[in-house]
Amino acid sequence: VYDVIVVGARCAGASTAMLLARAGHRVLMVDRAVFPRDTLSTLYIQQRGVAQLNRWGLLDRVAALCPALDRVSYRIGDARLEGCSRPFDGVRSAYAPRRHTLDALLAEEAVAAGVEFRSGCTVEELIWEDGRVTGVRLRGRDRTPVAERARLVVGADGMRSTVAALTGAATLVEHAPQTCVYYTFWESAADHFELYEAEGQWIGAVPTNDGLTLVQAYFPQRAFDRIRGDALAGYLENVRTAAPDLHARMLDGGRAERLYGTGEQRNFFRTAAGAGWVLVGDAGHHRDSITAKGITHAFIQAQLLADRLSEQCAGELANQGALDAALERFARERHAALIDDYHDTLSTARLSTPPHRVAMFREMAGDPQRVEDFFSAMGGAPKRPDRADSGESRSRVVDWMREARRRRDLERQTV
Ligand SMILES: Cc1cc2nc3c(=O)[nH]c(=O)nc-3n(C[C@H](O)[C@H](O)[C@H](O)COP(=O)(O)OP(=O)(O)OC[C@H]3O[C@@H](n4cnc5c(N)ncnc54)[C@H](O)[C@@H]3O)c2cc1C
Repeated sequence: VYDVIVVGARCAGASTAMLLARAGHRVLMVDRAVFPRDTLSTLYIQQRGVAQLNRWGLLDRVAALCPALDRVSYRIGDARLEGCSRPFDGVRSAYAPRRHTLDALLAEEAVAAGVEFRSGCTVEELIWEDGRVTGVRLRGRDRTPVAERARLVVGADGMRSTVAALTGAATLVEHAPQTCVYYTFWESAADHFELYEAEGQWIGAVPTNDGLTLVQAYFPQRAFDRIRGDALAGYLENVRTAAPDLHARMLDGGRAERLYGTGEQRNFFRTAAGAGWVLVGDAGHHRDSITAKGITHAFIQAQLLADRLSEQCAGELANQGALDAALERFARERHAALIDDYHDTLSTARLSTPPHRVAMFREMAGDPQRVEDFFSAMGGAPKRPDRADSGESRSRVVDWMREARRRRDLERQTV
């Protein structure tokens, strides 16, 4: 009997497995993929997520893969913001490592912490006893069915989670998809993180491994069927109209890979946990990728789960009452930790840029302090100490953005 079986070995699964093994638990981690293997992602890890990597002692390894992103430029209409987030736990840079390198690194660190990792191994069923999950039935590469038992099964198996389906985890909150996205990699197209926003458009340029720049273009969901017919042409036209300078640099350097994309930008929270099982990462909560929060949210959930298990169960998962109490706390605190980001993401994913938003950015551009506040809010950094001391609940910039959103909603209702 293992203490924990973790299904899925990417950002959520590998980091959870690593933390639980470091805490002394006997952990089996399985993934149906064989690593190293890429997955759909525009790669950006916000400062808050990088701070977790730093806390886990992994930042040096990640920083060796790709450039530090400590400068951001954000163009909206004729306004241009340039700056960076304040440090989050001493970390000022974001990073954007290729996922086949990041996920493999996390899985390696899990194994180094003592995790038993079986890749090419698919979980097909859960084992139940007296209404409690007590293990999994899986098939390895040789297709032989195997049963493994554990006190806790962690579903870190992504948006289409098998563990969520088999436990019947309910969808607690759900919103319709709002965007679709296409991206690919270009030679040396940008030396810092660039963002461009216009009505119905959102473009990002993200320097990553090997001197390449990932350029992503977001469209409204309703355009998906039209765009996918000739996705490369639609993607290039989107970048050309919203970010002509970037478009010219892309064509100068040349394209390094095929185009990737998805219209499946789902938004939901599922029940986080039950008797003997828990969901972390995209399995339990998914949001549009536009605000680049999924990796950071996976790390936050891994840490939260490890902390609650360590506090309630004191390194021993055999006490079911203590385990259930830890899972209940995790579920409650997961929701509280992620719900604001969820609503901010839904708002950004509307791809709506009314004139008053442009005017707000124009005004903000002349004030470096506000620009820093803005990028800090984007990167998840805490507010400035002077603002915390004054008792303000959010920085002024975030309040401005809320007000802009309120006005936009009013406009929409009026229409
Ligand atoms: C287009 C796009 C762009 C994105 N860009 C960003 C970004 O810039 N920044 C950011 O922070 N986030 C981004 N995200 C989100 C981010 O990629 C995800 O939030 C993150 O990968 C979630 O990690 P996870 O470990 O929860 O799940 P996943 O990465 O989905 O991993 C789940 C793993 O489970 C395995 N698995 C599934 N079912 C089984 C089974 N039955 N048995 C065994 N194994 C199984 C899979 O093989 C997979 O390896 C983006 C997402 C998309 C789609």
